[in-house]
Amino acid sequence: MITSYFKMDINHIDNDIITKCSELLKRGKLVAFPTETVYGLGANGLDEKAIAGIFKAKGRPMDNPLILHVNSMDMVKKFTEEIPSVAYDLAKIFWPGPLTMIFRKNDLVPYAATANLDTVAIRIPSHKVALALITACGFPLAAPSANYSGKPSPTDSAHVYEDLNGKIDAIIDCGKSNIGIESTVLDITGDIPVVLRPGGVSIRQLELLIPNIISEKVTDSSAPKSPGMKYRHYSPEAPLYLVQGENEKVVSKISTLAGNNTGILCSLENMNRYHTGKRICLGSIANSEQLASNLFDSLRIFDKLQVDTIYSEYFEYGEYKEAIMNRLKKASSGTISVT
Ligand code: AMP
Ligand code: MG
Repeated sequence: MITSYFKMDINHIDNDIITKCSELLKRGKLVAFPTETVYGLGANGLDEKAIAGIFKAKGRPMDNPLILHVNSMDMVKKFTEEIPSVAYDLAKIFWPGPLTMIFRKNDLVPYAATANLDTVAIRIPSHKVALALITACGFPLAAPSANYSGKPSPTDSAHVYEDLNGKIDAIIDCGKSNIGIESTVLDITGDIPVVLRPGGVSIRQLELLIPNIISEKVTDSSAPKSPGMKYRHYSPEAPLYLVQGENEKVVSKISTLAGNNTGILCSLENMNRYHTGKRICLGSIANSEQLASNLFDSLRIFDKLQVDTIYSEYFEYGEYKEAIMNRLKKASSGTISVT
């Protein structure tokens, strides 16, 4: 298959490209498109065959449900049984944006999109190109991250190209993703909302609105709360080990372990303290947003450097600490504790 490549400037929506890509999607084809979180691999979320194409192209396990991307609350209403009042409160603050809510689905949503669950994940993205594409299609776009399953999520069209060129019909290139980490997934079908995956809306922001929210901190993290959480994910080719403990001890442990072909994922503050190995700086510990947005790209750079092993500092800093550590733990082969 030849993958068409379209370049677009976020400030100048090219309606010809949007029309071309929406025509492809209407014909059941697959189009990767930019969102503010990461690039999505889009298909008609009401078309079972098109949805099957997503699972095939990504090599995605069949029991991992997809997020439907819509452009309005009206579209949410159209595909759900009931909308709890908390959804309106959350939508007012966080939509359009990096929050996915789990609703009870109605019969219009095929089970292919929800991996046979009676619930459906829905989000209104804020990216102008994503919204223009959904509007031109008139149906929800089922869109998981546009990476090959198990690899780090794509925060740039080059990542999509690396993983999916030749396997999908088109890619819309709109430069780097702004947030660079996936949406927060929140289950609102029970009495108390439960965070299934921390992401672009922080736990702290959610707690301001829902003080009794159930998040990773209080639930058993060994039990997957969402189907997609049980898989090893986001993994660079070399095994990655997290090194946890007091900063001085972490730096000294990684320095002892590192050889010339070892990858080191470190903070800006510690970067110059390592003298052996291939260092990638995730950003300053004072800038949690930057740490989150650099994460997936950094993991992919280690593949290019062909390192043997990667040691990563523990990035439990600031607003996005839960999201960053959730991804790093899923990418890792284990944690080394230094005490
Ligand atoms: P991705 O689009 O690849 O970033 O992954 C979507 C995430 O949402 C995965 O972790 C899924 O397991 C989760 N998800 C999607 N639909 C549901 C649902 N109906 N119930 C629980 N989790 C869901
Ligand atoms: Mg994904």
